[in-house]
Amino acid sequence: MSKKTVKDIDLKGKKVLVRCDFNVPMDEDKNITDTTRIIAAIPTIKYLLENNCSIILCSHLGRPKGEFKPEFSLKPVAKELSKILGKEVVMAKDVIGEDAKAKAAALKPGEVMLLENVRYHREETDNDETFAKELASMAEVYVNDAFGAAHRAHASTAGVAKFLPAVSGFLIEKELQCLGEAVNNPERPFVAILGGAKVSDKIGVIDSLLEKVDTLLIGGGMAYTFFKAQGYEVGNSICELDKLDLAKEAMEKAKAKGVKLILPVDTKVGKEYKPDTESKTVPWTEIPADWEGFDIGEETIKMFSEEIKKAKTVIWNGPLGLFEFPQFSVGTNSIARLLATIDAKTIIGGGDSASAVKNAGLADKMTHISTGGGASLEFLEGKKLPGIECLLDK
Ligand code: AMP
Repeated sequence: MSKKTVKDIDLKGKKVLVRCDFNVPMDEDKNITDTTRIIAAIPTIKYLLENNCSIILCSHLGRPKGEFKPEFSLKPVAKELSKILGKEVVMAKDVIGEDAKAKAAALKPGEVMLLENVRYHREETDNDETFAKELASMAEVYVNDAFGAAHRAHASTAGVAKFLPAVSGFLIEKELQCLGEAVNNPERPFVAILGGAKVSDKIGVIDSLLEKVDTLLIGGGMAYTFFKAQGYEVGNSICELDKLDLAKEAMEKAKAKGVKLILPVDTKVGKEYKPDTESKTVPWTEIPADWEGFDIGEETIKMFSEEIKKAKTVIWNGPLGLFEFPQFSVGTNSIARLLATIDAKTIIGGGDSASAVKNAGLADKMTHISTGGGASLEFLEGKKLPGIECLLDK
């Protein structure tokens, strides 16, 4: 069932509480190093301004674990937001305290304020009802636009919807549209590329994608569990011995469903987990005992590329190697560059694959880069996201 958005409700001149995902990366001096998530919130904020709303923004930042720790303050976000909007963003000193409430009460139509980090209160992650009610008491309408936190049932992402009419913002609407369309109505061939460290994190998504895709390419650390499941040695490569059965089941399911599940044919191995470690490329059946597989090899890149070039829809989640070390980033970067050139819908599922695409300067060449790693994975798994479920049905 589709959910109401800011366009489906009368919010003219009203006080609106907006949950954003301002969990942005910062350097040691608290300079924001990637403003993507702030920029992603702008269309909703602008729409509310056009409708003469008084806007109370809230978000989490990092994990202050229920304490008022200044290093987790959202002040730098207020500053950046004010720069982007070209207007003052009033910063509250607390979340549901005296300062926040006084500033919210005094807020006029067309003005914007930001509450402090909602995770300064443990009640946020506990989804405490009293805390949610206090948050709600400052506004007349609730808008959730924090896709990156929509898989969490927290007070500001879900609990608050019990006390206010609740709708989605444009970011959540766009995420659901892009991810939903790709999964439920893909132009074929539909290819999924999965990487990342662990099978256990992604087994749910492997299982659900096997119901939908034509081809599934598996790289990254999780490929070694699949190799091991077939009886091959993987040296010191990352491998989940307790997940061999799951890997076997996935391979059997792929066969039964007629899905091409393609594993690497060669792998770049390193001696040690170090950026400048000695490395070489070997066939995946010949990983030496004391070496570790850190990237897909050239033959695999070619093979994956052939499949990707045929695709009309591609979903990618998880790097294909230890891409933080340049010598093991070749697989991930090659696939990112290829995705930037093909004539297909390209959906990047947030997290590390999104960083890889952005680092390579290719972000604007993709159809959609999700702002939520965990949330997009859970959505692709077919799970219900509490931050979406709580909103009013259309
Ligand atoms: P995930 O959060 O599951 O998407 O995993 C991302 C992490 O997996 C990144 O930090 C990658 O460096 C890491 N990774 C990918 N391939 C490998 C590999 N072959 N060995 C070790 N780590 C890997």
